Amino acid sequence: MAMTNRKKALFINGEWVEAQVYSKLFSPYSEEVIGEIPSATPEEVNKAIEAASSAREVMAKMPAHQRAAILERLVDLMEKRSDEAARIIALEAAKPISTAKDEVARTIQTYKFAAEEAKRIHGETLPIDAAPGGENRVAYTVREPLGVIGAITPFNFPMNLVAHKVGPAIAAGNTIVLKPASQTPLSSYFLAELLQEAGLPAGALNVITGSGTVVGDKLVSDNRIKAITFTGSPAVGIGIRNKAGLKRVTLELGSNAALIVDKGVDIDKIISRCVKGAFSFQGQVCISLQRVYVHDSLYESFVEKFVEATKNLQIGDPLDPKTDVSALISKDDVERSLDWIEEAKARGAEVAFGGTAEGNILVPTVLLHADANLKVSCQEVFAPIVLINKVHTVEEAFDLVNDSRYGLQAGIYTENVHTALLAAEKLHVGGVMINDIPTFRVDNMPYGGVKESGTGREGIKYAVEEMTELKLVVFNRN
Ligand code: NAP
Repeated sequence: MAMTNRKKALFINGEWVEAQVYSKLFSPYSEEVIGEIPSATPEEVNKAIEAASSAREVMAKMPAHQRAAILERLVDLMEKRSDEAARIIALEAAKPISTAKDEVARTIQTYKFAAEEAKRIHGETLPIDAAPGGENRVAYTVREPLGVIGAITPFNFPMNLVAHKVGPAIAAGNTIVLKPASQTPLSSYFLAELLQEAGLPAGALNVITGSGTVVGDKLVSDNRIKAITFTGSPAVGIGIRNKAGLKRVTLELGSNAALIVDKGVDIDKIISRCVKGAFSFQGQVCISLQRVYVHDSLYESFVEKFVEATKNLQIGDPLDPKTDVSALISKDDVERSLDWIEEAKARGAEVAFGGTAEGNILVPTVLLHADANLKVSCQEVFAPIVLINKVHTVEEAFDLVNDSRYGLQAGIYTENVHTALLAAEKLHVGGVMINDIPTFRVDNMPYGGVKESGTGREGIKYAVEEMTELKLVVFNRN
């Protein structure tokens, strides 16, 4: 608690710099003040970009084993301070502490993968004589760091989604200016402290908090920044893409992830996983289970068991280890969610459970027979709301899943291998999970979406590709 309950400073060029302007940070659950956070001015952002730019050479020249060693030391430090890390996430994001601990464990994995990947970045030799005119030449590629990476991150995984940017950036020998979400700055300042202790050179990581428009805009428009890696909402992501010019842009955006439950599936085996997928961290997960399409032969029993399991979820204080569901990130999101539920009710959907709020906590909500045009169906709810609809065939379900502006991940439970293969082929998403919810993610898999869910992939190795330039070298021996 002591660590978070104080005034923070910007982290620029390896130093803690007092900012000109501050704003208070409130707990989404208790609404108490939990910190005073710098709101960086454009001049302060400029200093951070300058520092990252000056540190480029040191990082680019650092041997792979040293980059790996820094990341390994970070892993050790984070393991030692994992309880503190989880508490920070729980405080600033209202993430239930048990879920926050899972996030810290995953963050440690992500940095371990980054440490390992640092040693595997390589090009290839090319059979350039395969083309007439290419005779007697030696050709190979190398992967060079891009330079300064601008990383902009969301509130919902304040440690692990930052790790998916900072980890591969360091592994590849880049420098970083990181702008975390305004609601979750403490996790990023904590990371800066650990990386400083781990021996990262000054300027290689700079943490700048402040408004998305001021800090974000400056990062996106500054020519010294060679790539923007952004995770957040589609609206902001599309705006970034439009402004970024020739910069590399990786966009990890939202979704309304769906699951298909085929006939013949053992419902009892999958219910608890489906409930977790729908309501974990209050549904504020980009691959949160939002839409479920169940074969009519199983529909009634699926709904009954799902609602029964939902009733057992504990709502309350994020710091209480028994809590499953806590406050939404803001009051506005509670209001928005209630409005969307009202719209659904008014247009024929049935509320099988929930549909109300207790303070800033939206009670986990199960909607039935929701029309495809409702906001709860076609937009990203980012709240503990799931809809369960009946389908007669898997083909009908494929069409419903694909009838979305998003396409991050989708899941299907089926006992039929032909149906599984057909789903893998037909579902237009970045990742198809067979016999699992769409909410499955481990940190080394390629992760990213199609359509308005974004462009580019994360998952260390894939992020390293996005953060390096492929250079070709050809020796003429003629
Ligand atoms: P958000 O409102 O889009 O904010 C994301 C980040 O962008 C924040 O740091 C925000 O700063 C910043 N930002 C805001 N306006 C900006 C601008 N004009 N230029 C540059 N940066 C700007 O998203 P969020 O509410 O934090 O996160 C939820 C969203 O993230 C959901 O849509 C979710 O699906 C998506 N998400 C996607 C993935 C994935 O991997 N695909 C993972 C997690 C979350 P401020 O906080 O200061 O406004």
